[in-house]
Amino acid sequence: MLVGSWSLIICRVPSTTTGTKISSSMLLRRATFAITPMKYDEDLLPFAMGPDLAHPELAFNQETDAKLLAWVETVTSGWPEAAHDLASTLTDNPGRISRAFRGLLSGYSVRPEEVLKITMETPHDGHHGLVSSDKVPFLSFCAHHFLPFFGLVDIVYEPGTYIIGIGKMPRLVSCRSRRFQLQELLVKQIAEDMMDHAKAKGVYIRSAAHHMCVCYRGPDFASVKNVTTYSLGSLDHPEREPEIVAAMQAAADE
Ligand SMILES: [Zn+2]
Repeated sequence: MLVGSWSLIICRVPSTTTGTKISSSMLLRRATFAITPMKYDEDLLPFAMGPDLAHPELAFNQETDAKLLAWVETVTSGWPEAAHDLASTLTDNPGRISRAFRGLLSGYSVRPEEVLKITMETPHDGHHGLVSSDKVPFLSFCAHHFLPFFGLVDIVYEPGTYIIGIGKMPRLVSCRSRRFQLQELLVKQIAEDMMDHAKAKGVYIRSAAHHMCVCYRGPDFASVKNVTTYSLGSLDHPEREPEIVAAMQAAADE
């Protein structure tokens, strides 16, 4: 099911909890929730995240580790062995954890308008058709819980002034996901970037993800998958849905 405008969230949970209703989010002007059984999707593992970015200008060392351990001591108050266990692994490579998080949050060092800056102009007779990239992997951090969520993004757009280099799609997804983020806003921001910086006529974005902040709450929720969509411009119309589905299906079949 697609949407004509704004976002759709589908929260899929195991069949044992079918029938559970989830209240709509304040973020969405129009949201629909459908709950159906699902099997665990191996495709949603956080693979292919790309190389860690080096940040030689930042010195993560024993001093910064001390601040990290102070935070760990706060959240593990009453369990002194927790900070001790962590500290014992930092001595051989100070700053390791901070550098890892720096890479996972490196979207803040990338500007979407820079990612989409170099583009190819469409031929003078125009481009007639849709362009899609499917199953672009991402890993992000829930802005509510500081816990990761990860999954895949599908992008379908109708070119306007420019045709976007295919390699820009994963970079744009990485730019917007490697931040403190909400899955609802992830698709909205990518859609707006495509309209604002790539001058697309229309765009449809879909994401599917597993959230640690949902999965840790019980074994039955380990396979919950959340889906968000967002459409703008010429693709924000119900009559375009068959084209969008066909474009996504064509990419999925390759
Ligand atoms: Zn969360």
